Formats: sequence, structure tokens, C-alpha cells
Amino acid sequence: MKRECATALRPQAQSLVSRYAGRTVIAIGAHPDDLEIGIGGTLAKLRRDDVRVVMVVASIPKDFDVRLDEAKRGAEILGCELKILMDDGPRRLEDVKTCDLVGMLDRVIRDYEPAGVLTHSNADFHNDHLLIYNACLPTQRLAAFDFFSYHPTNCRPVPVQFHPRAYVDISDTIDAKMHAITAHASQFGGRGLDTEMYREFAHMQGRMVGVPYAEGLDVIRMLLI
Ligand SMILES: [Zn+2]
Repeated sequence: MKRECATALRPQAQSLVSRYAGRTVIAIGAHPDDLEIGIGGTLAKLRRDDVRVVMVVASIPKDFDVRLDEAKRGAEILGCELKILMDDGPRRLEDVKTCDLVGMLDRVIRDYEPAGVLTHSNADFHNDHLLIYNACLPTQRLAAFDFFSYHPTNCRPVPVQFHPRAYVDISDTIDAKMHAITAHASQFGGRGLDTEMYREFAHMQGRMVGVPYAEGLDVIRMLLI
């Protein structure tokens, strides 16, 4: 597809991959499928070079075995490692004390020592997603990793107030993202829902920055040198 603006006019940029090459990036989502929908293209892009990417899924509320298999398949398609935070059976996030959730995420940060963390946005409307966002915030005290939020995730289109401050060009990984989303068959095909809106949305995001497909991020904390 034709690039939509002259790259020569863009500011000098360090690639996302080179920023994290040889280091670890962690993506944290409340449920299986959130990471593929919100940030799948970015994760696949990071994995195309020497970046360790760990997809951390906090909980599986029901249909544990089915959704665990789908989460494994999604991570495999994106080329990422998968960690289920509460892996002992179906769990609802709202049944977990906030201090326990923060403790679990603290352990993730200490174990993996990430250079970058991506999680839900405070613009999300799903309470589980907000619980994860709020539990991730205090982990910033442990280390000076970059910290980003991705677009609110949902299975059906709904209006949300999310304004990206940065965009990742996912033109080379949009197909992997779409493939990984459809791995969650119980959430889409199994419910008669179509996934094509995610491709359309990535295209719209891409138009904001002159590339075919992009994912938008809110920057919570990032060191520029
Ligand atoms: Zn979710």
C-alpha cells in the first residue's frame, strides 16, 4: 500500500524496536484477547527483533480451559511469551483485593525487570480493565521503565475518550494482529462477532501519522535522552 506522507518530512525518530532491543517489554491485560486487540501489532513488531515480550494476562473469568488455549494460541501467533497471573482456575478480578493485585504485579516487575510496560487506559469503561490500570500505576515506584496505555479494548464498537500521544507503525504486523485476535474464537466467531473493525480502526489510526496501519498509545512515563 502506498505510504501517505513523505517520510522525509518526519522528525528524526528512534525505532521502537531499537529502543528495547536486548531488553524486556511487558504487556498487561485483564483478560485473554485484550492484548491482541489493544496492542497486538506492536507486540508482534517488537518480537521481530531482539526484544523479549511477555504477555501478562491477569485472569480468566470463566471457560478457563478454552480461553487458556486461545490465549496460548494468540501469544504464539504474535511470537510472545504468555504468563497468566491467576492461573489456578476461573477468577474474577473484582473478587481480588487491590493490595493483592498490586503485589502480584510488583512480582511481575521484579521478576522480568522490564524496560517498557504497556497496559489498559484510564479511559477504558470496563471495570476489570480499570482495576488493572490502577494496580499497575504503583508499580512505577519499583523501577524507571517506560509506561504506556493502549486504546480501550472491547468486542463491540463503543465510543471512548482516548487520545493517543504516540503511534506505532504496525503496517508490517497488522496481519499477525488480526490472526491473533481471531484465535479468540469463543469471543468473536463463537458469538457471531466480526473482527474486521480492528483492521479498520488500525487503518484510521495510521492515517493520523501517515502510515497504512498504526496503534495509538498514551504515554504515562517515558525518558527522552
Ligand atoms: Zn478485557
